[in-house]
Order: sequence, then structure tokens, then C-alpha cells
Amino acid sequence: MAKKQFKAESKRLLEMMINSIYSQKEIFLRELISNSSDAIDKIYYKALTDDSLSFDKDSYFIKISANKENGTLKISDTGIGMTKEELENNLGTIAKSGSLSFKKETELKDGHDIIGQFGVGFYSAFMVADVVTVISRALGNDKGYKWESTGTEGYTIEEVDGAPIGTEITLKLKENTEDEQFDEYLEENRLKGIIKKYSDFIRYPIKMDVTKSKPKADDENELEQYQEEDTINSMVPIWKKNKNELTTEDYEQFYTEKHYGFDKPLKHIHISVDGAVRYNAILYIPEKIPFDYYSKEYEKGLELYSNGVLIMDKCADLLPDFYSFVKGMVDSEDLSLNISREILQQDRQLQFIAKNIKNKITNQLKTLLKNEREQYDQFYKEFGRQLKYGVYSDFGANKDLLQDLLMFYSSKEKKLVTLDEYVSRMPEDQKYIYFASGESYERIEKMPQTELVADSGYEILYFNEDIDEFAIRMLTNYKEKEFKSVASGDLGIDTDDKKNDSDENENEYKEIFTFMKNVLTDQVKDVKVSKRLKNHPVCLSTEGEVSIEMEKILNAMPDNQNVKADKILEINVNHEVFTSLKNAYEKDQETLKLYTNLLYNQALLIEGLPIQDPVEFTNNICKVMV
Ligand code: ADP
Ligand code: MG
Repeated sequence: MAKKQFKAESKRLLEMMINSIYSQKEIFLRELISNSSDAIDKIYYKALTDDSLSFDKDSYFIKISANKENGTLKISDTGIGMTKEELENNLGTIAKSGSLSFKKETELKDGHDIIGQFGVGFYSAFMVADVVTVISRALGNDKGYKWESTGTEGYTIEEVDGAPIGTEITLKLKENTEDEQFDEYLEENRLKGIIKKYSDFIRYPIKMDVTKSKPKADDENELEQYQEEDTINSMVPIWKKNKNELTTEDYEQFYTEKHYGFDKPLKHIHISVDGAVRYNAILYIPEKIPFDYYSKEYEKGLELYSNGVLIMDKCADLLPDFYSFVKGMVDSEDLSLNISREILQQDRQLQFIAKNIKNKITNQLKTLLKNEREQYDQFYKEFGRQLKYGVYSDFGANKDLLQDLLMFYSSKEKKLVTLDEYVSRMPEDQKYIYFASGESYERIEKMPQTELVADSGYEILYFNEDIDEFAIRMLTNYKEKEFKSVASGDLGIDTDDKKNDSDENENEYKEIFTFMKNVLTDQVKDVKVSKRLKNHPVCLSTEGEVSIEMEKILNAMPDNQNVKADKILEINVNHEVFTSLKNAYEKDQETLKLYTNLLYNQALLIEGLPIQDPVEFTNNICKVMV
């Protein structure tokens, strides 16, 4: 029989498949099953809509049979079948369904990526088989045809007798090599596993003979093995079921089955949207941060199904980065099965779904916050950082969405509180939302800068994570209340007496402060009378954009620009130490120099900033002691 030649492009795709080093060759089965399912869809629709055809639901199925002796794997279906022309046109050329864009020829060189990103369809069979035989009879045709190919040399096509309507594809599996075992695709459990993994939710039964055991007829205590046909896939996907039919356990089981995490999900979100874009989704908020979350290996994304067929393991475009911890899947009838990552990014439907999902997750979190605070606290402990990061990133594009979900530790409540809770209990005369930054709650608690605000009876939010101040700066205010660091210049607290006092003081001690400022040139911008200190002798405050916390963080970064905060050394003139300063100024300016340096270094230590010269500092302390 004369061989017919493949068209040039098909030949190249075939070559790529035959020589593929792609590691997940198992996807060939997904591709063939999905073709079968499509073919059954077509005949099913005909049977439902055409009165001349009889309709029997049980007659639509896919069957997988492995033959170990011959080394063959057969996939047959009771679908619509193919005519001779269809066999030639559909299998002899690259599918026209937009599966592969051959425009960029160079991209084809490395098949690895392409196979990973596209559904490559029928030709993927050649990743595992030397010979592919397709016997098919189309609905309404008397004759069946056999199409056969051993690869790039071409294919033969001939008439065959007795073929039922539908298609049967036989793969003569490749010989095992050192690295690869092709005969694993004949193993019952391996096949079951692949079917479960990729095609569990195909609407038609995928049947296979499986080995079972039963007690022997003559001896109840002995088991004998026998073969029986089973349906491997569960057919009705959980996401297509009605929410009311499902229990929390069902969702938890799905979470485990899908290996979304080793933990239990904290909450699930089941979405069914039936509008301009139709889709179903099951999403999970995990209970625990995944162990590899902060590693390079962690990939965000949701599983993407096109009408029950898995097309992508981790579709990153479905989740914003700040929800990268969310697990789950999306199934949409409106997405084509063979769609590349590049195309997906611009896909309108996918963008719509992604936006929708973002809002649903946000709403779920808001509900959790409102109704199940303990669970929310637990969630926040694991993933709160992500939310703050979300407020800050993309130039604050999502700050309105996320701001109500933020929580910070409160000086008054001694626990995490929301901004709304903070603002709603602000006394009338309080102008700002106060925050204090530091390494830990314990250290912040002791910060001298907090004294005035705390004494005025105002609540302070404690920022102990790097991202906190950056996120808050992006927000600038919440419910029209501006955020204010307790270390910033103007705290907006003017108890009258203090104000007058300090202004007077300022003049009175101007000379001393000028002297001190000169001692500390390059290190502080100014030395001032403190309006906020009560018990502590000294502290640092800042002017301008960069706070001390930010200076620390920015300077810890690899490409640090040596950013410095504009620091003000504040002196508590009501403290005993100040008397010593005054005396020194009058009697012995060398001593005042010494004191100035000591006080400045103390202030640095309180802030957790490195002191410039520890040896000199300790020597100076000794000088005071002797
Ligand atoms: P796609 O599924 O994207 O169209 P494939 O390469 O998987 O691309 O399949 C090519 C075409 O071959 C299908 O569109 C279909 O027309 C035909 N085909 C493949 N398998 C079958 C089958 N089991 N029954 C009927 N037609 C099939
Ligand atoms: Mg296909």
C-alpha cells in the first residue's frame, strides 16, 4: 500500500513528538481521552436532537485496554467517528483548532516548553508509541477505515470491515530504554492514576478491566483474582455539584486528593458563575503556610480546566501575587482546550475570571473577619504579610480592596486590631492614627517616643514587620485619618502648657543645643527640646519621608543606596540629666561633648541602630565612671 505523506508542518510536529525528551509523556492519554470525549459530545448531541437516532445513555463511553503480550494500549470510544476524508484531514494535518501557532518557527526547536504549555493533541501519541493505528467509522457511514502511521515517513489508509461507529486508537508502545519505561503505560495502576489525575471529570465513563479478588468458591478463606470492567473516573466533578449537596468533608477530601496541601483547608470557596462568562471554581485558603512558600520553588496558580479537561496545572494569571497562597481549580466551558500561556494572558474571559476570583477571595476573608474572628486571626498569622504586601505592591492599585483586612497589634487591646476598630474608638480630639515601629512588640512598648501619645490616652499600632511602614505609606490614611509615626516631628498633640513651656525652653537653651548639634554634625539634623518625653532623657525622631525603621530596612537590602533618615536628637529638659548638661555647658565644655556623644549613642541603641564606634562608646562610659 502506498504511503501518503504528511504535510510539512505535521511532519515537524511529529518529529518533535517522536524525539521528545519531555518528562510528562503521560499526557498523551489525557489528549486521546479528551478527543474521545469531544467525539462523544458530538454524537450525544446528535442523538439528543435527532429523532431518527435512538438514544441510550449507557452506550456512550470510552474504553482503555492494555495488552501486555503485544505491548499495545487501546483507547476506543463510541463517539461520532471519522470518515476517510476526516481521517486524512484531521490526523494528517495539524489541528486547525488554534492549538499551535506555527508562526514563530524558532520556538519549535525546543519541544520541551511547547509540550508543557500546549495541548498538543493527537500527535502526542507518538511520544510513547512507534506505531499508531486508528480505526474509525463515522456516524451515517457503512464503511470503516484504518489509518496507520509509524511516524514521519507518512501514513497508510485502507478500508476495513466490521468497524463499529466510533474510533479505536491502538498504540504500539516504544521499547523501554535505559531512562524510560514505556511498558508502564500497560500497568493497571499507572493507567488508573493517569486517568484520575487528568480526566477524572470527563462526563462519560472511562472504563477499564481491573483486577479484583474474591473468596474462592470452594474455599472461603482463599482469595482468587478476576478481571472486571470498572469505571475509573468519577464523572461528575465536585465543582459542578450543588453546594447544598456537599459537606465540609467533601471539600476537605478534594483538597487532600488534589494534593493542594498537607494541612486541612481553613476555608473553601465554591463559585458557580453563569453569566457572560461561565465558570465553576473551588478555592481554598490553607490553614498553614506551605513549607516552600518563601522558596524559589513555590509557584502560585490554580488548576485550569476547560469543560472538565485539565489544561494547566498552575495557571498563575488567575491569582494576584498577594493571594498566591490560595489553592484550587477553575473550570470554564468558554476556554479552549488548546490554549497557550501567552494567549491566556490576553484572554478576556480569563481576565474576567481572575478579577472575579480576586473579589470572591476578598469577600470570603471579610466574612471570616466579621463572623469568625478566631479563624481570621489564625489566617492572618500565616498570611497577613501577604495582604500588607498587596497594599504596597502595584503602586497601591489594590489598597482599597485590602485595607479593611489589615490588622496590627494594639497598645491598648494587646492583640491584633483592624484599622476600622482603631478609628471607630478614636477620641474626638485625636487627629491621627498613631503607630510605632520596632523589632518586636516588647521593644516597641518600651520606646521613649511612645510616651506622650500613650500618656495622652491614645492607642498606638505596633509595626514589627518590614513591610508595615511601606504598606501604611501607600495607604497614607484610613477613613480620612492620617497615619502618624510616634517618632515623627509633629504629633498633633498640643497640651497647652507643654507647648508654651518648650517654646520658652527652646530659646533658653538654644546655646547648649547649638553646641550639641555641632558636636553631632553629619549625624543629626538638629537637637531639640522634646515635647514627647516624660521619663526618658533622650530619643530620636525624624523629619521628612524616611523613618528610622525604613532606613534600617532599606540599608539591609542588597543594593542599598545608603539612605539616611533625617534624625532629630530630642532632649528631655525635665530630666535630671539635663541639669548635668547645663552645668557642663557652663563649666567644662569637653564634658558636654562627652555627654552629647553618650546620649546620642544611647538614642541609637534604643532604636536598634548600630552605634558608630562601640569601643569609643564604652571608653566614654568609663570616663564618666572614674
Ligand atoms: P484538537 O482536539 O485540538 O482538535 P487533536 O490533534 O487532538 O486536536 O485532534 C485532531 C482532530 O482529529 C480532532 O479535532 C478531531 O476532529 C479528530 N479526532 C481525533 N480523535 C478523534 C476521535 N477519537 N474521534 C473522532 N475524531 C477524532
Ligand atoms: Mg484534542
